[in-house]
Amino acid sequence: MTGQGSAYALSGRLGAAAVTFTAGDAPALSNGDHRAMGLVLRRKEAVKSQELFLFLSGQGAVWASAPGTGAKNRFGAGTEPMMWGEFRLYQSPRRLYLKGVEVKEDFLAIRGSPRALRAAVRWCGELASRLLPGAQADSLLSLLWGSMKNLSAGIDPVLLDMRFAWRWANLWGIAPPLDVCSSCGTSLQSAGGNFFQMTSDGFMCRGCAEEARMSGSSDLMGLLGAAERDALLMAATLPKEGFVRWASDAPRPGSNFAACSSWLYSFINSK
Ligand SMILES: [Zn+2]
Repeated sequence: MTGQGSAYALSGRLGAAAVTFTAGDAPALSNGDHRAMGLVLRRKEAVKSQELFLFLSGQGAVWASAPGTGAKNRFGAGTEPMMWGEFRLYQSPRRLYLKGVEVKEDFLAIRGSPRALRAAVRWCGELASRLLPGAQADSLLSLLWGSMKNLSAGIDPVLLDMRFAWRWANLWGIAPPLDVCSSCGTSLQSAGGNFFQMTSDGFMCRGCAEEARMSGSSDLMGLLGAAERDALLMAATLPKEGFVRWASDAPRPGSNFAACSSWLYSFINSK
């Protein structure tokens, strides 16, 4: 991260999407009332309040204090994690308070499906761990919203998880290329072979992977089948409508995708 007060933009490979970080600046909000759309990423119970880590449009991630706990909580379900709504906030000189929340989308369909819920909980947890308070990331918020919409529409959580992880890494400019060998630049499509080697830089073609193995490289992170690499490419890079059409007919992902998903998150966690 750069010094205090500096802002910079990283353009991803998708071109249209860019994210701006404002690192280390706190608090970003001026004193007084504010309104913003977003969701609760994480909630902690304190003695007389709930402490909410909110992810808000135009504000990024912020901690807000919601007075009252348990039965004395006057915000009802509005302070539940993964609840999307319009949050009314008050910034005092010392802290940010929640004044009210109007729930817009509770995503009940996700909460009713263990597989879907697991994916959404992972996304919120990863974001809560990675977002710095004060870092604006509206493109990432849009990605989360679209992913949860697709999840509640019944699209496979594993495909959506890969799409979410890769596109998040892409917004931060650190996504692995999915179409070429990260070592020699050869097109993976034309390189042939039944498997591709995952490394901390991206995929390796068969020749480079063989060389890396011979030299005892410690950067070999598992293999992904060629058909699965094709599916990852589609899941990650198809535009929205094309993705929804493709995902509706795609075969249910195999267990190998779990390793692929962990590999994708490793890029975000390496930042
Ligand atoms: Zn290669």
